Amino acid sequence: MTGKRPDLRHRVQARRAEAMAHDLARSRRAVGRRDGVRMEIDGRWLINFCGNDYLGLAQQFQVVDAVQGAAARDGVGGIGSHLVCGHHVAHEALEREVADWLQLPRALVFGSGYMANLAVQQALLGEGDTSVQDRLNHASLIDGARLAGCRLRRYPHGDAEGALRQLRTVPDGAAMIATDGVFSMDGDVAPLRQLALVARMQSALLYVDDAHGVGVLGPDGRGSVADARLGVAEVPLQLVTLGKALGGYGAVVAGDADLIDHLAGTARPYLYTTALPPPQAAAALASVKLARREHWRREKLGALVQRFRAGMQERGSELPPSETPIQPVPCGDNARALDMAARLEADGFRVAAIRPPTVPEGRARLRVTLCAAHAEDQVDALVAALGRARDHVDAARAA
Ligand code: PMP
Repeated sequence: MTGKRPDLRHRVQARRAEAMAHDLARSRRAVGRRDGVRMEIDGRWLINFCGNDYLGLAQQFQVVDAVQGAAARDGVGGIGSHLVCGHHVAHEALEREVADWLQLPRALVFGSGYMANLAVQQALLGEGDTSVQDRLNHASLIDGARLAGCRLRRYPHGDAEGALRQLRTVPDGAAMIATDGVFSMDGDVAPLRQLALVARMQSALLYVDDAHGVGVLGPDGRGSVADARLGVAEVPLQLVTLGKALGGYGAVVAGDADLIDHLAGTARPYLYTTALPPPQAAAALASVKLARREHWRREKLGALVQRFRAGMQERGSELPPSETPIQPVPCGDNARALDMAARLEADGFRVAAIRPPTVPEGRARLRVTLCAAHAEDQVDALVAALGRARDHVDAARAA
């Protein structure tokens, strides 16, 4: 019966050829030196408009000092898993600081946001249970439901009533509503208050992945949940990533003490992996302290977002609604997104072309992200370059 088995290498070759034909092939570019929002690629310095270091903390000296001090003292490795010998006082200090910042009972450090999203669902849901998710949720939330082995039901983007309809079709078993707080490719914010209501009506647990909201939105940068004036009663668990506004690496899940303790004791992506290296925990601790008190970073970021949107509008480019640093510029087809990104790079800007499956078919885009470390004239220059790129690509197509 092995005669029908596909040869894996042949299948891969066919898929690669197919991806090339549809402008979906992925490639990586190695960055050399980095200096704030400037980075060197292939020997040229570009202004970066596609990073997630929204508050400009990744190279902040207090954060770098924290890493250097911790590495000199404790070394660079996690050494072991948390339950063996990897758990370190630096993790506990970070957990306490995050819980205090978000005004939540407890917090737990994870290796990454991806792992945390796997962990939350794997530890809480199983066969017979349901994970109800926004159609545009991040891939790691989808994968978490797969790892949990539960049913996965998706509702139209931003549609709390759609979530309610889905929950009504599965009256048995425990249920979780999982949503991005800020959608990673669109920059819009989930209707958290309505979702909290639906969760309460249906006895479901609301889990908010606030990877792109914490540090940026809400009072003291406490994120989209606090911005919606919700607390642990309505959102028992939320995800904070350390690799975005906090400029480092890793993640924290924060919320209800019993649920967090359960994760620490049973979540496979927590138990069976090496602990986050202590210098990264020390870096995040320094970053959180800065994010909490340096309000000017959020204020400057907000002003740059408005400046970018106003500039685009002045040039006749209507952007989809987003008040966050994630500003998608719709391109339609994949080739157009790639051509626009290439023109921008020739002009000195690094902007990511985002294509399926990261975004739905036919909705390729440039994902512009703003950072508190950008200067106003850099944003103005990007707006002008986007206009030139659009004109150039459209003229080339019309020819
Ligand atoms: N959730 C969302 C919404 C994200 O955008 C990302 C990162 N792209 C993650 C989770 C995963 O976080 P991490 O990069 O820390 O694995």
